Amino acid sequence: MTTTITAQALTDFCDEYLQAANFSDYCPNGLQVDAGVPIDKIITGVTASQALIDAAIAQNAQAILVHHGYFWKGEPAPLTGMKGNRIRSLMQHGISLIAYHLPLDAHPVIGNNAVLAKELDLQIVGALYPHEKYPVGNIATTAPISAQAFADKISKVLGRAPLYIGNDPSRTLHKIGLCTGGAQDMIEQAYAMGCDAFISGEVSERTTHFAREMGIDYFAAGHHATERGGIRKLGELIADRLGVAVTFVDVDNPV
Ligand SMILES: [Zn+2]
Repeated sequence: MTTTITAQALTDFCDEYLQAANFSDYCPNGLQVDAGVPIDKIITGVTASQALIDAAIAQNAQAILVHHGYFWKGEPAPLTGMKGNRIRSLMQHGISLIAYHLPLDAHPVIGNNAVLAKELDLQIVGALYPHEKYPVGNIATTAPISAQAFADKISKVLGRAPLYIGNDPSRTLHKIGLCTGGAQDMIEQAYAMGCDAFISGEVSERTTHFAREMGIDYFAAGHHATERGGIRKLGELIADRLGVAVTFVDVDNPV
């Protein structure tokens, strides 16, 4: 017997677990597209790209659950072009879309930062911005490790070599700031909080200069690569707690 759930019930479960109402975000968290079809198969992925939708269609899924959904603040509202294609595909195939952005970065157990820290043997000791009640970036400690060895560890864990910017690969790291995704500019806060290094997803030209001139090491480990953890764990939790079939689909992205 297969278990089915409505898109709203699935969203209610995620909202509650991720405490989504506590976050003010750049996009709506939760149910973004309701196809009105009972769900017995869910596809999870980092971004609701056309490739992920095509994978959901091929696997006869009725829901897609992602970290990067649609309707970002400031984007044009009309459902045309790439956005129109994607939403047409969802609706025509009866697939609902559910997305969680900051709540999935910040969750202390299954969040992107928590999962990355665990995989890199880092112990989270606080928030990157101490005033934040639900911190999106964190400060962590590590057993003493050289910058080179830490870069090697990231390569092994994420299956992708990070871009390392630092002055001395033999330097020993103790205190590391982390925030997955496009958080490169938080390097300044990591420096202000006394971190030896900062790890994030993307990098900008200016990040190099800040790292070199202020003497904080930077590891750009990939936006996509650092944000697979949270959505994957959320899918595992749903399969476990709700008994619905969940498959994680990794649509490769080099950035
Ligand atoms: Zn992201």
